[in-house]
Amino acid sequence: MQYKVTNFIALILLIPMLFVAETRAGDEYSIRAISFGEVKGVNRSFFVEGEAGEDKVDIPFVIWLLQNKDRTVLFDAGYFRESWTKQWNTQNFVSPDKAVANAGVKPEEVTDIIVSHMHWDHAQGALLFPNANVWIQEDEYVYYTGGAWQEGGNSGGIDKRDVEGFVKLNLEGRLKFVKGDNVEVIKGIHAYTGGKHTFQSQYIRVDGKEPVVLASDNAYLFQNIETQTPINKNATFSLLSNRKAIKRMIELAGSVKRVMPGHDPAIFERFPTKGRVATIRE
Ligand SMILES: [Zn+2]
Repeated sequence: MQYKVTNFIALILLIPMLFVAETRAGDEYSIRAISFGEVKGVNRSFFVEGEAGEDKVDIPFVIWLLQNKDRTVLFDAGYFRESWTKQWNTQNFVSPDKAVANAGVKPEEVTDIIVSHMHWDHAQGALLFPNANVWIQEDEYVYYTGGAWQEGGNSGGIDKRDVEGFVKLNLEGRLKFVKGDNVEVIKGIHAYTGGKHTFQSQYIRVDGKEPVVLASDNAYLFQNIETQTPINKNATFSLLSNRKAIKRMIELAGSVKRVMPGHDPAIFERFPTKGRVATIRE
C-alpha cells in the first residue's frame, strides 16, 4: 500500500511537469540563420572600430528564421535588387523568398518580419513576403521617410525604392510600429534600441531557458561582442551608445556565447550547418 501511494504521489507530481515541458517546447522559438549571399574580402576595419591594416573578412548576408507552433518569423529579410548585387559583387546570391525554402519555408507562410533597420540589405526583402506583418521601430520609419532626406539628414545605406515600399506596406495596413526600448513585439520576442547603427535600429532577444540575442548590424562580428568593441564610427550614429548596447546584449542573453552578430561567417562554423542554414537553437 505504501508503495502504491508513493507511486500515485509521484504520478501527480509528474503530470504538471510534463505539461510545462510540453508548453515550453511549443512556445519556444527555434532559431536558424540562412545565408543568401556573400561578399569576399571586406576590410575588417569596416566592421570594428579601431582596427587598422588590411586584414580582410568574407561576410555573409543573413536572414534569421524563428519558428514555434504558432508563427514563422523573420528577423531581417535581406535584399533582392540587382543593383546592390552589382555594387557589392555579391557571390552565390539567392533572393530571400527563395532562400527560406532551404529551411522548408514558403514565402506566404511567413507571419511576421521584424526589421532591425532600414539599410537595403536588411529591410528590402520585407517586400517579398505577401502575408507578413512587418515590424519596425516607429522612430526609424519616421526618420527615413522624412528627416533623413532633408538638409543635414543622413540617408546613407537607404534605398529610396525601399522607402516607397515601406510607405506602401503602411498604407496596406501591414506595417506595425514597435515603440521604443524593451518591448515584447510578439510573445517571446523582445526588441531593444540603443545600438544606433541607424537612426533607431533595434535588436531582439528570443526568450527561452537560454535566451538568444540577435544583434543585426548593431554588432557586425563576434569580435565586436567578445571584445566589447563598437562597430566602426562611420557605421553608427553614436559610438558610446553602440558600446553600451553591446554590453547590454551580453547581459540580456546571459552569456556572451548567445549574442549573434549580423554578418559573421563564423555563424556557419560555430553552429551545426546544413548547406546554407545554421541551427542556433533546435
Ligand atoms: Zn546596416
